[in-house]
Amino acid sequence: MSTTIGDVLSYQQVLERFDPVIGLEVHVELSTATKMFCGCPTGFGAEPNSQVCPVCLGLPGALPVVNAVAVESAMRIGLALNCDIAQSCRFARKNYFYPDMPKNFQTSQYDEPIAYGGYLDVEYDDGAGGTATYRVEIERAHMEEDAGKLTHVGGSTGRIHGADYSLIDYNRAGIPLIEIVTRPLVGVGEHAPAIARAYVSALRDLTRALGVSDARMEQGSLRCDANVSLRARAGTDRLGAEQAVVPLGTRTETKNVNSLRSVERAVAYEMTRHGAVLSSGASVLQETRHWHEDTGSTTSGRPKSDADDYRYFPEPDLAPIAPSRERVEELRATLPEPPGQRRKRLQGEWGASDLDMRDVVGAGALDLIDASVLAGASPAGARKWWMGEVLRRANADGRELADVPLTPEQVAGLDAMVTAGRLTDAMARQVLDGVLAGEGDPEQVADARGLRLVRDDGALQAAVDTVITANPAVADKVRGGKVQAAGALIGQVMKEMRGQADAAKARQLILATLGVVDG
Ligand code: ADP
Ligand code: MG
Ligand code: ZN
Repeated sequence: MSTTIGDVLSYQQVLERFDPVIGLEVHVELSTATKMFCGCPTGFGAEPNSQVCPVCLGLPGALPVVNAVAVESAMRIGLALNCDIAQSCRFARKNYFYPDMPKNFQTSQYDEPIAYGGYLDVEYDDGAGGTATYRVEIERAHMEEDAGKLTHVGGSTGRIHGADYSLIDYNRAGIPLIEIVTRPLVGVGEHAPAIARAYVSALRDLTRALGVSDARMEQGSLRCDANVSLRARAGTDRLGAEQAVVPLGTRTETKNVNSLRSVERAVAYEMTRHGAVLSSGASVLQETRHWHEDTGSTTSGRPKSDADDYRYFPEPDLAPIAPSRERVEELRATLPEPPGQRRKRLQGEWGASDLDMRDVVGAGALDLIDASVLAGASPAGARKWWMGEVLRRANADGRELADVPLTPEQVAGLDAMVTAGRLTDAMARQVLDGVLAGEGDPEQVADARGLRLVRDDGALQAAVDTVITANPAVADKVRGGKVQAAGALIGQVMKEMRGQADAAKARQLILATLGVVDG
């Protein structure tokens, strides 16, 4: 019984007929040194099944112990999301049978999450060259453990269907996760995809700023399930009053969408698919769906009713968690400046436009520029280097800015040398080459490569005199008022100086020597 609706409605048609509602579930893998309930290490990319013990393998008789750092990270996330922190809460067993979880239950939280009832204001691209803010209401943030990783071998899709056999790696089993669940987000309208993207992006920034996760979607340390539904648009009654409540439509849950762009595309795609289903008179099946990056579409996963019975019950092997109010306030005091607020502050300090900031954030340059300015660079200089030369090279090498072997201190050094007039831009680019090639800090590279702007006016004057003597005809033209002709002389002087002179200064000296007042 599968609904194969080939068609989708156009995005515009969807908006004319329906009101979209979205809900986002984000799993954040904490970067604690050890797992949630045992002392196994959590490093990414280790030999399969090398980071396991009786507890995370679910061997009989093994008893869990809660990771205190994970609990504090959960509370800090909750506080940063403006949530209440539970006075007391318990873990619960979510029972299911599947080889990714050898205990046959996942230790999670159910009706007693550690944090609940918060919000996050996110700034989204309004699609018209500006930004707008939407308040995402947070239902809850709860603690749980990750499952093992299955690799299905054989078959073309990498999914279990059609596979010959499956490999299991339990290194990931038991890694601490925080699941953050939004309320149904209403009133998002045409901006549903952009708001979904902005929210996940804001959560990524937030968890990184908190230092609780590296939040790398491509490595799966931040994963998003996107719920989408459509409902009838609110109409007006016969007296013209807005009809109050229109019930929510049936949702689908697109699982594990692993990039910001995919979150945006998956929401937009599901809207158009739901639109076609509903417009044909059929109803949307409540189910999970899989996102396909290559086709930009989703396919049916498994049916999912709200009454799915995991037979949750309180975990008997773990004591309830009851953080003291003092501890909660201590943790609140450790919260960093909220990323959105920090962005606004830096924008003001740097004198950057909205568009500049969008590019800076998009390029992952915000922290690098900030650190460069703190190391002494001018804001304009720091932005120019990171967003110009360095970004160009990073793109050419296909790597992230943060992975370029260049420190904010080195950028500050480079900027200082340019500002002090000791390097021309062209020379500074050569110094950058040297720094990136591992030849040392900017000063060292400039010394080693002999890149110094000649500040000795005597040497420059000598060069000017030599060039004027060697080019009497050009010199006469300049004397006669053809100032543009000085260009040829400047070129000669720069050549004499082997490029290590300031061209503007050379021009000044040439004109002064020829007795021409620059107009
Ligand atoms: P599940 O057990 O299905 O994962 P959760 O409560 O963890 O349920 O998450 C469901 C998510 O879907 C929440 O973010 C919720 O706000 C959202 N949601 C619920 N109903 C709808 C709906 N009709 N349309 C869109 N999103 C919805
Ligand atoms: Mg869920
Ligand atoms: Zn273990």
